[in-house]
Amino acid sequence: MDTQKKRCKICNTENLVEFISFGQMPVANAFVKKSDLDKQEYSYEMKVGFCEHCKMVQMINVVPYEKYIVPDNFGKTNYAFFSSTSKFMEDHFSGFAIEVEKKFLEPTSKVLETGSNDGIMLQAFKNHEVLGVEPSTNVAEIAISKKIPTINDFFTESLAKKILSEKGKFRAILSANVTLNIIDLHDYLNGVTTLLDEKGIFVTEDPYILDILEKNSYDQIYDEHVWYFSLNSLSNLYAQHEMEIFDAERQWTHGGSMRVFACRKGTYEKTERLKKYLEEEQQKKINLIDSYIEFSKRVEENKKKLIDLVYSLKAQGKKIVGYAAASKGTIVQNYCNLGPNILEYISDSTPFKQGLYTPGKNIPIVSPEFFHDDKKVDYAFLFAWNHAEEIMKKEQEFISRGGRFIVHLPEPKIVEPQKQESKEISEIQIKKLNIFANDQGYLFETLRADDKIFDGKFGQVLVSAVYPGIIKGLHLHKKQTDYTACIKGNMKYIAIKINTDKTIKINTFIVGEKNPILIKCPPGIWHGYTPLSNQEAIVLHLMDKVYDPADPDTDRKDPFEFGDVWTPRHG
Ligand SMILES: [Zn+2]
Repeated sequence: MDTQKKRCKICNTENLVEFISFGQMPVANAFVKKSDLDKQEYSYEMKVGFCEHCKMVQMINVVPYEKYIVPDNFGKTNYAFFSSTSKFMEDHFSGFAIEVEKKFLEPTSKVLETGSNDGIMLQAFKNHEVLGVEPSTNVAEIAISKKIPTINDFFTESLAKKILSEKGKFRAILSANVTLNIIDLHDYLNGVTTLLDEKGIFVTEDPYILDILEKNSYDQIYDEHVWYFSLNSLSNLYAQHEMEIFDAERQWTHGGSMRVFACRKGTYEKTERLKKYLEEEQQKKINLIDSYIEFSKRVEENKKKLIDLVYSLKAQGKKIVGYAAASKGTIVQNYCNLGPNILEYISDSTPFKQGLYTPGKNIPIVSPEFFHDDKKVDYAFLFAWNHAEEIMKKEQEFISRGGRFIVHLPEPKIVEPQKQESKEISEIQIKKLNIFANDQGYLFETLRADDKIFDGKFGQVLVSAVYPGIIKGLHLHKKQTDYTACIKGNMKYIAIKINTDKTIKINTFIVGEKNPILIKCPPGIWHGYTPLSNQEAIVLHLMDKVYDPADPDTDRKDPFEFGDVWTPRHG
């Protein structure tokens, strides 16, 4: 690691300390065509530093935009992530818009968004004039088709001056997951201050450094992310532009983000919420290099554990593939040396990625159908560790045939699926009855005082006959335990338990000559029975209490209350 302090790109002092290097790294989203596999890919040493003066965490070798925003054959730059494809993000951004509208906008106020994508946030401002600025052509065109005025360009000071002369000033300038990508933040902020009106607010939302440190989520670090903000470092940056933060709100999107409200110095009063966050940053030592050095040690430890885990599985002959080809995955594959010898392929649902190869390690990308058809896969490496739960729900088939997911965060591990709660009603007990037959006839013991299922309390015994087509029950006792056997014919015995969380378990037993058992049903379980075939069933009942007509201890329900659980299914 380079111990020489470097010049900070925010405060311009020589106080930038490198605390982590990931080695040579390709551009995270530069997927490779088969025909380009023998060509040298662009790479850079991905290392991150902390400025001891202004506290900004920053990429040391900044990758120029043209390395990852590549024009297509028509000279248009395209962006693969359409915000609006996610319902969750749509709700998130409309919440963002409503908060800004309610708190800060007057009827004539105008709203500008930098990096407005396909207009997902601006479309939520129904009553105000809006303007989007979006450098990627394809998403800007979608926004324009939705009648959201959008300039297809980068937001800079010179563009801001042009907008000012045509449109005047704005009350609110917004940016979501954009500021962290801006290489020349000073020029960008000059643009912001050019356009803000006297009560104007500048609201940003970006991944929050505290989340990265606490979750060890080093895979948030890649070429496009130039800055990793704390409220402290942002305050120092804004101070250089006569601006200040007056409010902040932590968000759970993108693995943990911070929404930050800023204005010209002195315009709005600082909130209590902001003060609490600042105190937390102090307390968690966000302003000390030691916190970052410790982070880098944890990341290295994580890498070692991950390599041990996957290489040992591979040594056992297990087949491992990757799940979802995203930027996070590129970082993990290259940092932890996971090539096609470890991950045979990566399944991804994005059509344009299928058939391409991952940056750096060149692992082939296939469709989810290919993955689902491949029954030999033992493990799937899930790069989107923060979505493990929902993905595992989606991939039940893989899991039920013994497939397992591997995640690298928060700790490298094989994720065991959560145990399904048993479908059996645990309160019901069964005794198998052994039939002893000889040339004289046969007998079977039904219940003995030393049987485990007998709890020693005797009330009465009775025998009943039930005609074909009749359902007896459905009933429940609050105090009484029933022991039931069918000594002639066969019947279907249904037990139903309503759990405290209102979920219902229904168990079916066949009882009788073809399956001689004794069923013990304790209080609190609904039960009933019906003969099978056109033969009456002779039923032996033992109760642990005597029947008291004054207190029958029997609640009844319509036998079809839980649907038709009685009729045998044909086929
Ligand atoms: Zn600095």
